[in-house]
Amino acid sequence: MAIQSINPATGKVYKTYSPLRLDEIEQKLAAGEAQYQHYRWTSFSDRSTWLRAAADYLEDHAEVLGRIMTQEMGKPIGAAIAEVKKCAWVCRHYAEHGADYLADERSAIGYVRYQPLGIILAVMPWNFPLWQVFRLAAPALMAGNVVVLKHASNVPKCALSIEQIFRKAGFPEGAFQTLLITAEQTATVIADERVRGVSLTGSGPAGSQVAATAGQHLKKVVLELGGSDPFIVLPSADLDQAVETAVMARLQNNGQSCIAAKRFILVSTIADEFETRLVDKFNALKVGDPMQSETDIGPLATPSILQDIHKQVHDCLISGAKALVGGNLEKLKATLPPELELGNFYPPTILSHIPPGTPADQEEFFGPVALIFRVQDLDEAIQLANATAFGLGASGWTQDSAEQQRLVNEIEAGAVFINSMVKSDPRLPFGGIKQSGIGRELGRHGILEFVNAKTVCVS
Ligand code: NAP
Repeated sequence: MAIQSINPATGKVYKTYSPLRLDEIEQKLAAGEAQYQHYRWTSFSDRSTWLRAAADYLEDHAEVLGRIMTQEMGKPIGAAIAEVKKCAWVCRHYAEHGADYLADERSAIGYVRYQPLGIILAVMPWNFPLWQVFRLAAPALMAGNVVVLKHASNVPKCALSIEQIFRKAGFPEGAFQTLLITAEQTATVIADERVRGVSLTGSGPAGSQVAATAGQHLKKVVLELGGSDPFIVLPSADLDQAVETAVMARLQNNGQSCIAAKRFILVSTIADEFETRLVDKFNALKVGDPMQSETDIGPLATPSILQDIHKQVHDCLISGAKALVGGNLEKLKATLPPELELGNFYPPTILSHIPPGTPADQEEFFGPVALIFRVQDLDEAIQLANATAFGLGASGWTQDSAEQQRLVNEIEAGAVFINSMVKSDPRLPFGGIKQSGIGRELGRHGILEFVNAKTVCVS
């Protein structure tokens, strides 16, 4: 895939970048390693100061950084600006709590001291182009590691901006570097002995290949992969709130979020009501230019994502599913102005009556498509929620505390949110089980992923 900045709303190519040559990669790894030998001995206080400066920079430049994201991957501008501010939050969180998270852990027989590992490679996706990077980089840098970033090939301007943010914040030269490299070149970086760990956020196939290379070279790996999160609505749910939240939970980021609610599992007594209200909400959404603040849904990030989601919907429809709203590309195109004709727009879509054996069973729908399933009771809801290879998050809606506890205990996922949507938060660990990943980011768990827990006994 070429490293290219293309506006997904218009198809306009802004810039094509040449991938780094081998000797340029070598220079950057050498600079990273040289800096690590100094940076690892800097104090928590210095690292906190730099992280706070990064947070200030992000807040002061939220609008311009938001525009870069929107221009490269199409998220609505308001959400882009909010994402920049969330990056400031994670920097402040680790600036404030990092030293406590990493304090020596004492017991009667000795103590554990947490020390950095070295260069950590971040392989990151385009969907939250700043947030995904900051949630790895802030704790890694606070722990005394240095970071090299291989970002997705369609967000090079975001990737270069992130390096600039850390530089402007005062981090020493080489503490954070962006490598404009292809997916194929990533294996060379993982294999390099100066690189001590890899964190990948992305799809299962990419995670599996990166983990295989990391395994071959015995490197620590964290994987944050895809999801097909259930959103379970039981009879006692507050339907107003559930429907309102369902729209955001499915359509945030134009539907391209790992923790988006993708499968709506409705107990039949409330299913008609929920479905009718959700259709009304979807019908009211404005699809269009993501730079306009009134736009709800912008374009998908690339033409291939558009093709993939359209094929998945088509396959469901020919198997007998019903589109309650959306699913029709031509109809949407007719509503768009000429300057958006080449954009990767897809209509907000709701599918119901989906028979078994369609892509809805096991695939991730990475776009604005809600899949509705009806069940008889909680047992069937839990069974269906778990009938997936993924295990990232789950949202359950019920006022009944016994039902809430069953969801908490029985759902196979890295997170269960009751009566709210699944969200990431710097204070809480985040990650999946099954095909959704290995390890955790954020909170104390996140910062402990890339450190040496050194056991110390002094007799
Ligand atoms: P992707 O195609 O897997 O790409 C992610 C990153 O991996 C990109 O930098 C990509 O580089 C790189 N990559 C791909 N194949 C590789 C390989 N064989 N070796 C080394 N690097 C490789 O995923 P995406 O389409 O950008 O992102 C969408 C996926 O990410 C979805 O499945 C989503 O659910 C998941 N995701 C998960 C989380 C989470 O926290 N669990 C968060 C966000 C997204 P190129 O761009 O150069 O190919």
